[in-house]
Amino acid sequence: MTDIIIELCTEINDRDKVGIKASFRGPLRNVPSSTSTAIVNALSQQLIHQLQLLLPNAFASFDDLNVDLLDAAYPYVQTAARQGLQRAIQDRGTKMLVNSCYRTIAQQMLLYNDRHNNSNPVAPPGASNHQTGLAIDIEDARGWEPYLMRYGWNPLPGDPPHFDFQGSGTTDIRSKSILAFQQLWNKNNPNDRIGEDGAFGPQTENALNASPANGFAKAPWDDKPRILKLTQPRMEGSDVERLQDALKKAGINVAVDGEFGPATDKAVKEFQQKKSLTTDGIVGPNTRAVM
Ligand SMILES: [Zn+2]
Repeated sequence: MTDIIIELCTEINDRDKVGIKASFRGPLRNVPSSTSTAIVNALSQQLIHQLQLLLPNAFASFDDLNVDLLDAAYPYVQTAARQGLQRAIQDRGTKMLVNSCYRTIAQQMLLYNDRHNNSNPVAPPGASNHQTGLAIDIEDARGWEPYLMRYGWNPLPGDPPHFDFQGSGTTDIRSKSILAFQQLWNKNNPNDRIGEDGAFGPQTENALNASPANGFAKAPWDDKPRILKLTQPRMEGSDVERLQDALKKAGINVAVDGEFGPATDKAVKEFQQKKSLTTDGIVGPNTRAVM
């Protein structure tokens, strides 16, 4: 496994680059430089779902904890790390502002492509500590430090906002992040297949740069649906589009834009109320069945 390259997280922080509304339409290599990595949100969401299929129950969202997330901060960590985070947040009793957490290899590729604009080292996809599912960058890091350290989350010297989970019960998932992409690529490019070896070589780099920033036509949720709901970063993709379409056909007024924002949340609740379902805005098996 590749050694982790230590990046200075303050310098590649996305907090000052917000306001991206939809993913870029075109290959990843053509994404304008120095934009927020939220611009590859749709592809990132596919990679996360594919990774979850590879690691069932080992890689979990913490969006239900008392956290505020940036547009490009995917709230996923390994299960053991999640437990530590939950306890630290409970102990302190305040909201944690998260700048970055699990970074998809699509996001990492953008940062890596952009590295000549940056004095600080950027790791190639798979070699960043932000692909471990054990890393988090937060605001007020020194205020959080004693709480996090109680539960296995240690600060990284020289990188002020960054903490790594060093408790037990974790595995190295970085090659799985690469493998998830390779599988997704092959599913969509049967005539231009790449090796599914979990390693980031030139072939995978070319394929990743040629991948659509707004997601592949064949998405991982086509085989195994994801639970759709209002999240931060927002869910975006063909499944959201199909949901909005179904809502519209059910007589509920909603824009079909493939992005699950507050208007879609409201529309789902309206549908659930009409059908006497639990009005929670969450599209799981029950709501889907009625739809
Ligand atoms: Zn970091």
